[in-house]
Amino acid sequence: MSPPKVVDFLKEFPLYRKVEISPDAIEWLAELTSTSLKLDSYCPQCTKVSTFESVGKSACTTTYRPKYAPDPLPDDREKAYNDLLRFNKEFKIVLKCPRDHIMGYYFALQRKEEQDFIMKIGQYPSEKDQKRDEFKRNRKIVEDILSSEKADEYMNAIILYDHNYGIGAFIYLRRIFESMINNTYQNHKNEVSFEEGSFKEAKAKDKINALRDYLPDFMVNNKHIYDILSKGVHELDQFTCQDLFDTVRTAVEIILEQEFERKKREEKIEKAEKELNNWESEL
Ligand SMILES: [Zn+2]
Repeated sequence: MSPPKVVDFLKEFPLYRKVEISPDAIEWLAELTSTSLKLDSYCPQCTKVSTFESVGKSACTTTYRPKYAPDPLPDDREKAYNDLLRFNKEFKIVLKCPRDHIMGYYFALQRKEEQDFIMKIGQYPSEKDQKRDEFKRNRKIVEDILSSEKADEYMNAIILYDHNYGIGAFIYLRRIFESMINNTYQNHKNEVSFEEGSFKEAKAKDKINALRDYLPDFMVNNKHIYDILSKGVHELDQFTCQDLFDTVRTAVEIILEQEFERKKREEKIEKAEKELNNWESEL
């Protein structure tokens, strides 16, 4: 498996997760340590997305001796690769936004039984900081349509994913998903032909079917999200859960957003009708 795109590795990849590398990855390593590396990312100090640029070779340092992938790459790439692995045990790269705010990444290189790995062992700002605005908005949505307890659980899912606990992250996402179903049932139980006892025992797919007129379309059209979440909790390994997490998180967020928009629209309609009625009695 080839390493992820450099930008994805920096921005999306969790800390401590190993990426297998081989001499074929020398170009990838050169791009990672390149002096012309650029990265669009949220800057917590500017509080907006900025373009971060590498501060140059001085930014790429190691504990042992300064060494970065040579640029341009020499013909003997295998030697360049082996030198890089031999001399670098850990290294960092530093980038700056146009206002001089710093972004730093720390990496470890490991050679174990003929296999080489690289992993991110630190980053500033943290992934959570970089996505802070997005998470803050989603947290508010969860709080608004479910509860502050569920909003905390949404954040827990992200924190666990950040620390490579993919299975744990899945548990929290599944709880939010279930909570959407149960809340909707409580609000509409008189309108569906499902009494409480048997509803509790029913399969998620049947629950969603029964509530299809009241649940967000994306949830009704993609009921299998629940099966994926359950597989993550019961069967899948940590790595698969990590790989799947972003996809499933996005799906859950779409559901939450749809519900939030529906609620806002309903409130707007209610308010407008009330005002119209008030005016009518006055005119
Ligand atoms: Zn900045």
